[in-house]
Order: sequence, then structure tokens, then C-alpha cells
Amino acid sequence: MGVVDRLPHALRDRERFGAALGRRWPAVFLDYDGVLTPIVDRPEDAVMSAAMRSTVCDLARRCPVCVVSGRDRAVVQRLMGMDELVVAGSHGFDIWHPRRDALEHEAASGFEALVAEVTDRLRQEVAGLTGVAVEPKRASVAVHYRLADEPARTRVTALVERLLAERPEELKLTPGKMVYEILPNLDWNKGRAVDYLLDTLGLTGPGVVPIYLGDDVTDEDAFRALANRGVGVGVYVGDAARLDRSTAAQFTVDDPDQVRTLLDSLAR
Ligand SMILES: [Mg+2]
Repeated sequence: MGVVDRLPHALRDRERFGAALGRRWPAVFLDYDGVLTPIVDRPEDAVMSAAMRSTVCDLARRCPVCVVSGRDRAVVQRLMGMDELVVAGSHGFDIWHPRRDALEHEAASGFEALVAEVTDRLRQEVAGLTGVAVEPKRASVAVHYRLADEPARTRVTALVERLLAERPEELKLTPGKMVYEILPNLDWNKGRAVDYLLDTLGLTGPGVVPIYLGDDVTDEDAFRALANRGVGVGVYVGDAARLDRSTAAQFTVDDPDQVRTLLDSLAR
């Protein structure tokens, strides 16, 4: 049994979920990996299915839909095969609106040289390590080690720890599923991005219920942001009984297939 004994299920505890939404209009925020696609060995293979694309398009015709991902924003748009949604990439640093282009916010720029320098260091030092991939992003750099053997993983861990120790004030680490991500040490995250989007897109009225679906540790910032505002519903995607952390989400669904069922129901 995990930390979370029983989180109500958004599909099976349908009445509770409906009561949490009330008679309000949804504004839907979606993490990408593990929510709109299953987690895959190679991140570049996480292409959204045609069925999910159709569901997301239907929903976007009916209510605001924003994607909030740790990934580079352009990569998310390519994997989704659509560019008509608001997308907050790079853990919310890089926010893009289909009719307003890049949205400026307080943490939106000023760290490019730092990220480029760290990216170069990582590339040099992991060269020759099989199964290790460096993924440069606009506002961070990720090192994937899912396909690496144990000695290579150990070396990657040591390397990341060394880079962070060299610049403890300037850099921070976001661990993920078989990936380390090094980011500028700014007070910005998926939760700040959701807060910013709710305010900027005018989604703050009593008639709106923000819904956030996510599976990662980094999504907890967004669940907490909604909880702190006292509005909105967080939905953890995954097996809540096996979750090894407490969560600020109030509901769960099991997997991306159930996410699609839930989104279909919101579009009706
Ligand atoms: Mg995810």
C-alpha cells in the first residue's frame, strides 16, 4: 500500500468527481508524457495517438485546453501533431499561445547562456556512454539514462551531482523517470505556469473549474497551485495505491486510456 490509501477515482467515483466540478465550465490543463501518451523507452517515440488527438481537439472546441510539460515546447507540439493549443513547455518556462505567440512572464528569459554552457559540459562528458542521451531544451537540459547499463547510470549520477555542486546557487535538479533534468534555479515551475495561465487567460471567475491531469513529481506543484487557490481539481494519472509520495491531487485515473475517457466525458 502506498502513501495514498485511497484517492477517489474520477471515472469509478463519478458522482464525487461530478460534485467536485459543480456546474462550472472546465479549463483543462494536461501534462504530456504519461497522460496523453504512455511512458515509452525512448522519449522521441511518445507520439500522441490519432484517437487521443481527436479527443483533445473535441475538448478544445468546447473549453480552454493547455498542455503543461517538462519537455521543450516545440517537441510537445510535434509529438501531439497539433499546434492550436496553449502549450507551456520546459516545465512552464516557455509558454506559447496559438494567437499571441510567446507569452512573457517574469522567468521567461535571461538564463540561455547558463543552460547552453551546462549542455556543452554534459555532452562532452557523456560522449561514449552507451544508452545515455542529452536532450537540450530551451530552458533546461535533460540527461536520459533509461537505456544505459548500471555502470553508465552511476557515472551519469556522479556527473550530474558534480555539475550541481559547482553552481549550487544557479542550478537545480528535477528528477524524473530515468532522466535527470538540470534547470536554472528560478522560482518557477508547472504550478507557477498554471497560476500565470489562469490569470492571463482570464480563467479566474467563479464559473470556471480548472482541472489538472499529471503523473509526475513536477505535477505536484500544479496540484498544489490549484489547491492553494481553493478552486480546481487535480487528477493523478497512475496507480495511486503504488504512489510513493503524498499527493495534492484529489482524484485519480489509472492510465492514458482512462484520461481519454475522462476528457471525452468533459467534452460532452
Ligand atoms: Mg508526465
